[in-house]
Amino acid sequence: MKRTLTFCVLLAGLGIGSVLVALSNHGTAQDPAAASKDAAANSTAPKAAPQGEQKMVRVQVFNREGKLVGPVDSPRVERTDDDWKLRLTAEQFAVLRSKGTERPFCGHLLDQKQAGVYTCAGCGLPLFTSDSKFHSGTGWPSFFQPIAPGNVAEKVDHSYGMERTEINCARCDGHLGHVFNDGPKPTGLRFCLNSASLVFTPSDKLSTLADAAAEAPAAEAKPAPARP
Ligand SMILES: [Zn+2]
Repeated sequence: MKRTLTFCVLLAGLGIGSVLVALSNHGTAQDPAAASKDAAANSTAPKAAPQGEQKMVRVQVFNREGKLVGPVDSPRVERTDDDWKLRLTAEQFAVLRSKGTERPFCGHLLDQKQAGVYTCAGCGLPLFTSDSKFHSGTGWPSFFQPIAPGNVAEKVDHSYGMERTEINCARCDGHLGHVFNDGPKPTGLRFCLNSASLVFTPSDKLSTLADAAAEAPAAEAKPAPARP
């Protein structure tokens, strides 16, 4: 981890799209000093206190048999920045909670080709599977669709003078990356991810992802919406 960080300093505060623009213009590497200044600014940003009644999200999760079930209602994960810092590595915090971006070709999951599932490094929600991972050539892990439509939330991002679509974990609101319209069939979408926002679990270990929400009463669950 330390060795990787030496050469792969996070582009904290910069969106993946802006780096792509720089790359496509044959631009030089981003200024690390400016990036770390942005990171410092972001880390002190005030966050709403997690108070009030428990909010729920409707997502798909794994059960004890390692089977994806749902949608089921799962409690939304809300923590203070101080609490997140205790649970995440500095690199994970910079991406998930401060919207940082890894340098291209640096993430540890870029060349992961094993069959399995990618979960949120913040809350463990299943987000993507190896079945939809493809080689985009961008230097970031890329997928053409999420594991379930409700598990990845999308948000318009107007930062840096561009209009992009940010993707976040639906349960903990952790920043994952962005989604673009230049992906392969069948969706034509490219979900561009930071490795630091993900944890990989191989197919034969999916029962370890068993989620309490999977054991909720069946009457609570409604049929999944039709996939595009
Ligand atoms: Zn999450």
